[in-house]
Amino acid sequence: MKFPILFVLFLKLLQLLNISAETIQQDVTSKGMCTEETANGCEDSSKAESTTNNRNDDAASQRIVSKIEKTWAKYKSCSAEPQDPKCECHQKVWQKDLEVFQKQGITKQNIKDATKFGTLYKIFNQKLYRTADCFFPARCEGIEYFLLKIAPSLPNMDFVVNTRDYPQVSGRFARDVLPVFSFSKTSDYRDIMYPAWTFWAGGPAIKLFPTGIGRWDIQREKINKAGLEFPWEKKIAKGFFRGSRTSHERDSLVLLSRSNPNWVDAAYTKNQAWKSPKDTLGEEPAQEVSFEYHCQFKYLFNFRGVAASFRFKHLFLCRSLVFHVGNEWLEFFYPALKPWKHYVPLDKNPSQSEIKEIMEFFRRNDDLAKNIAEAGYEFIWHHLRMEDIECYWKHLMTNYSKLLKYEVVEDKSLIEIKDKKSNNQKRRRSDEF
Ligand code: UDP
Repeated sequence: MKFPILFVLFLKLLQLLNISAETIQQDVTSKGMCTEETANGCEDSSKAESTTNNRNDDAASQRIVSKIEKTWAKYKSCSAEPQDPKCECHQKVWQKDLEVFQKQGITKQNIKDATKFGTLYKIFNQKLYRTADCFFPARCEGIEYFLLKIAPSLPNMDFVVNTRDYPQVSGRFARDVLPVFSFSKTSDYRDIMYPAWTFWAGGPAIKLFPTGIGRWDIQREKINKAGLEFPWEKKIAKGFFRGSRTSHERDSLVLLSRSNPNWVDAAYTKNQAWKSPKDTLGEEPAQEVSFEYHCQFKYLFNFRGVAASFRFKHLFLCRSLVFHVGNEWLEFFYPALKPWKHYVPLDKNPSQSEIKEIMEFFRRNDDLAKNIAEAGYEFIWHHLRMEDIECYWKHLMTNYSKLLKYEVVEDKSLIEIKDKKSNNQKRRRSDEF
């Protein structure tokens, strides 16, 4: 919302007099000064502010209220049409990732150099090819499911896909940046993010999901159903987490759970790297539970693992409030999710008292918690569908292909990848870890 400069100064003056500018701004908003641009935000922000009066006298709580109100007031839907047929919500991500190649383009030598970091793929005459070896076959399968769908409408191209967890391209200068596709990165890396294999196959193989947690389409339906079985009012007002100790950042929450079991139920489970109780912070590993089980709880926690953790997207489908710790590790859909609108952000390595403080706030402000939980659910349900993943792949690859500076030719050393059904091949077990 644009305020005339005098009004802004007036607000600043009120701030100096210790009167909350946000309070005034909301007041203005609720009195009908919403512009067309902010119409949705106005409606949303009144929902967000409706119940905060008289309950958040301390400075920390006021800061949280102010952040929520500002975010809801500013928020604009990311797509022109509700169905988002052009997957607009995520397109800034591929635009940004490809930007570094715009000036110089991608040469044949760049591709050759990039093959050190991943598997070489080729689209030629609407067919998909790759080198015979794939380090993680289930991961390649998850990627190829989408590539096979879009290959008939794509031009010829070569590209290199990194199927490891960790990104590979840390080049500071544009001239050193190689075109490598990776599923996750931080802002220190220049990898081109692609939708992880786990939307279709692979993903961490735990006892409950021996072939990996893949098949996002199936998980969506199952978790959504569990979310409906546990509406907000039926949920237990506790934090919940289950997972392995892939990063020590999770320790605070597990320790808080041990000292305050009425607040948090968080415990470490085994993964295939587990050797002794040391790997589960001195206790025996907890039983694994399904994502549906998570839906009983109001507050669900997401942490990075080796890179971004696949659990993030699943948690929203419970219609629970998601606490997302640290903002460094990304997957392609993270930037479209907004802190305080769709989830509650926590700085990386939060202490036990920081976790308790933010949980205390949302316990006191239950309707704010519920509104954010609903907004997070709505976003993932409507903008992270299988068609959004396919659409993202298509935009990404179409625009990537325009950067190639050489003529792509056939390579007989590559194998053709065919649809599993037409190939009559059985699905392999996940070979993660
Ligand atoms: N997971 C689960 N139930 C459990 C333990 C783990 O559904 O009891 C899921 C978890 O949400 C994540 C995956 O299994 O999507 C792997 O979790 P882990 O913590 O081992 O690894 P990371 O989060 O680092 O990928």
